[in-house]
Amino acid sequence: MQISVITLFPELISSVIQIGVLGRAVERGQVGVQAISPREFASDPRRTVDDRPFGGGPGMVLKVEPTRSALRAASAALPAGSRRIYLGADGTPLTQAKVAELAGLPGMVLLAGRYEGVDERLLSTEVDETISIGDYVLSGGELPALVLIDAVVRTLPGVLGDEESAQQDSFMAGLLDWPHYTRPEQIEDLRVPDVLIGGNHEAIRRWRLKQALGRTWLRRPDLLAAKVLDAEQQALLAEFKAEQR
Ligand code: SAM
Repeated sequence: MQISVITLFPELISSVIQIGVLGRAVERGQVGVQAISPREFASDPRRTVDDRPFGGGPGMVLKVEPTRSALRAASAALPAGSRRIYLGADGTPLTQAKVAELAGLPGMVLLAGRYEGVDERLLSTEVDETISIGDYVLSGGELPALVLIDAVVRTLPGVLGDEESAQQDSFMAGLLDWPHYTRPEQIEDLRVPDVLIGGNHEAIRRWRLKQALGRTWLRRPDLLAAKVLDAEQQALLAEFKAEQR
């Protein structure tokens, strides 16, 4: 997958993509990420990329021309079928289902806004989709772009080793993850649940599924409401609820 980020702060992108799972994927060539600044495409000597909003009010707005040139140059260098995405608080929410959809694309151009945002004429003509990472406002689209890149890249084939498999992560099966423990077995009065050290794989599977169901019921009932539970899952959730009482 090839990804280009249009941003006024390319160094924000290039520093983060060197680290951890993402850094490894870049190093192995499983994903290519480049950052392009609209300033490179500004035609005046001061490299102006923003201007005051029509109608008045605070803040500045990213201008059409340099941002559009950057977006078009990035798109032209990406494989056919790549998607142009604006990161905006007014977009559709980024979910694991959306991440799975994006992971099937050959490439993406991610447009990170700044200040009050981007001239709407650019968004309505050059962007395929607007995505939000949550119901809060950040100062720029770079962190949302990095969130999206990280979430997508870790699901690409071969990026995570077996031991880090994304298949068991929260949201993959419409549930939150179960609790995790590591050595030592006992810290002060806190003990690892006995079932996890008993070596009974079927009992461990059932315990984990029950915890995932229970945690989702407690913390994200909206997820549970959207899921059809099979007979085993219904029974385990009923057990969890009974234990809570
Ligand atoms: N005036 C905008 C609004 O009320 O939606 C906020 C602009 S914000 C200060 C600057 C940039 O941050 C936006 O252009 C967008 O690219 C990015 N941004 C802020 N919050 C975001 C979110 N929740 N998801 C995705 N991008 C966001």
